[in-house]
Amino acid sequence: MGASSSEDRSCWWCGQLADSKEHRFKASDLRRMFQDSPSLWLDAGERPTRLQGPGAKAVLFPHVLCRDCNSARSQPFDDAYSAFFTFICEGAERFRDLAEFSMEEIYSSDAEGPRNLARYFMKNFACRIASRGFEVPQQVIEFMNGAEGMPNACLLLYRDFALHDRFRRIGDHGILLYANAMNSPTEPSEGPLIAFCAELQVGPIGALFFWDVDTVLGPIFSTDPWVYLRDRLELPYPELHAEQWGRLHE
Ligand SMILES: [Zn+2]
Repeated sequence: MGASSSEDRSCWWCGQLADSKEHRFKASDLRRMFQDSPSLWLDAGERPTRLQGPGAKAVLFPHVLCRDCNSARSQPFDDAYSAFFTFICEGAERFRDLAEFSMEEIYSSDAEGPRNLARYFMKNFACRIASRGFEVPQQVIEFMNGAEGMPNACLLLYRDFALHDRFRRIGDHGILLYANAMNSPTEPSEGPLIAFCAELQVGPIGALFFWDVDTVLGPIFSTDPWVYLRDRLELPYPELHAEQWGRLHE
């Protein structure tokens, strides 16, 4: 696979023609959230958008995946994420002072559950890399294909009740979806990707990913069923989060 550009229509995962649009947020989650709330704030890294329905244009990535990779191939990842989403929605409050928990609470004895969840997040983050016109790092593709880790990456779960509580105060259920990303260089015309970080948050729980071509990192939350849940403020790239905060407070 050669360097991709924004005009390329090849699937970042398998290289076939990209003829499918992945949801930035899972369609079933959006539908469920619309049942409880007349509208929904979506934050996908540009500016917060108020959605009028789960099929709104703003919730789709451009063509960066093929139909096969976006359906059958990633179905187990989508299913693992659905279980995770339900688990959070059913008891967000219990995470407030929780520093660690076991993935077995969600997936019982399914050892693939945490790995599939990690791959759901990575599919979303890779779609963001591709939609910004960069080639997805080979390590990420290998991880999607079954590799245990990504040597130059971290993928961690965190908790952040600040936004959740703010939504609760204005009468919402507090299960917001929010995403953000930063990349270096800023534009693909400046060269290949050398660093990328991104977040995807469901209510008070989020996944933080960072990858740096020059730094050996390594921890991926799915390598152990016992998961540490750190406060977002204790983790790297606070500006990724703080910037979001500022905009939501405007
Ligand atoms: Zn594909």
